[in-house]
Amino acid sequence: MSILAGARRRLSVLEWHTMEIEIATIGGYEAVGRQMTAVRAGKDIVVFDMGLNLSQVLIHDDIEISQMHSLDLIDLDAIPDDRVLNGVEGDVQAIVPTHGHLDHIGAISKLAHRYDAPVVATPFTIEVLKKEVQSESRFTVENQFQKMSAGETMSIGSEGVKLEFVNVTHSIIDAINPVLHTPEGAVVYGLDKRVDHTPVIGDPIDMERFREIRRHDAGVLAYVEDCTNASETGRTPSESVARDHLRDVILSMKGFDGGIVATTFSSHIARVKSLVEFAVEIGRTPILLGRSMKQYSEIAERLGIVEFPRELQMHGNRSAVDQAFKRIMREGKDGYLPIVTGHQGESRAMLTRMGRDETPYRIEDGDKVIFSARVIPEPTNEAGRYRSEKRLRMQGARLYADIHVSGHLRREGHYEMLRALQPQHVIPAHQNLEGIAAYVELAENQGYQVGRDLHVSQNGTMIQLVERWRKIRQKPVWSRRFGSAGNGSMPLSTMNSRWLTLSGCMRRLDTFSKPVANGSAHQ
Ligand SMILES: [Zn+2]
Repeated sequence: MSILAGARRRLSVLEWHTMEIEIATIGGYEAVGRQMTAVRAGKDIVVFDMGLNLSQVLIHDDIEISQMHSLDLIDLDAIPDDRVLNGVEGDVQAIVPTHGHLDHIGAISKLAHRYDAPVVATPFTIEVLKKEVQSESRFTVENQFQKMSAGETMSIGSEGVKLEFVNVTHSIIDAINPVLHTPEGAVVYGLDKRVDHTPVIGDPIDMERFREIRRHDAGVLAYVEDCTNASETGRTPSESVARDHLRDVILSMKGFDGGIVATTFSSHIARVKSLVEFAVEIGRTPILLGRSMKQYSEIAERLGIVEFPRELQMHGNRSAVDQAFKRIMREGKDGYLPIVTGHQGESRAMLTRMGRDETPYRIEDGDKVIFSARVIPEPTNEAGRYRSEKRLRMQGARLYADIHVSGHLRREGHYEMLRALQPQHVIPAHQNLEGIAAYVELAENQGYQVGRDLHVSQNGTMIQLVERWRKIRQKPVWSRRFGSAGNGSMPLSTMNSRWLTLSGCMRRLDTFSKPVANGSAHQ
């Protein structure tokens, strides 16, 4: 409802809103990693992601994260500084990680115990999280772990807010985009995804549901977007393209009588499945080696998400891996295809150790090494991968690099999402300023404006999207953007209720103001 305030000639009105909506951008808004965002809808707060920035920790060789205090990790910029939530009025009702990557779940074992709220996530993410929490030695996480699958909805608090999971496709299985439905519109948290209609495992991205949410009465109030790859033209290819590429490479090695070793992300179950199947196709026994390789694949198999060929072997701990390597050397490298960790050249990972000749497996002249991953563009990884590749080459290995597709949208994917959702407000995330700039350009071309409805934020900032009473200018957004009112994309009544917000709606949050909403001080 709206009430005329002052003279009509000034063309300003006061609009009454049933619920205040704010978004706290806590982590991941200045660099990739340690994602964390909180949405306040009335008295209820939902936290999306609590991630770790692993590279901030890896530069210190002597650090064991599981034993570290959260405050020390905050000082290292390794986990989000959630003390900013002290300044937000309301109760945290749920902690919602979007998928099982560490930059989204890695801080849950350090921060979740401070909140009297369940962790709500998809089944695979929950199982990965349980392993994370088990290896934590400093804090005890006693939050309830609640499984919810894509397509399902739950109530949040007592003011009619609902949380929905929409299926998306990413480089890990069981990824979702959570949507918070409020009386003022939906807040769509869009980290991380690509538009994939032919994923190797699971369902295609649910674009139709995103369009339905836009057509819903209140439409989309805000969209928090993962800006990765916004500077790259075109669209990100499907995982099935990476699978075809991998098949071409591995089948070209049929009949080769030397060693073949492959590496990829241990959590990338679709890619691991492809590697395993093609190893069998060329008559080799696939063998997953390393703790994380075994862990992720075992979880996926136990949940019935993937079915591996019976030839597959898995070995996790160091002595079992060494035994397996000795057996391979004894029986002949041409009978096996080890799939190992180390695609970023991480110093303690298996392939890096193989390159340093620290395992019983001998890399010999002409042996083939497949990197089914791209270097994550970040100095620690770039240096590690460079060193690892050089050592492998020095031993005579032939390298097949970058057999991979990204898990993140490129420019046309971002455009497609903006069109599907037509959000009132856009908040770019998951990048440094340089990465965000490419996305800002794209959004500006669609009629958004920085400081008005395109919010370039920083860590520890609050964006006020809806206030109780709001003075508004009378100019509908949608006539300029994505066609006119007459294109049938939105009912006129909805259009009329949408107005440009006033600028200056951001404020810095204070880290030390008062105790956290429904938790205790950092302990
Ligand atoms: Zn991810």
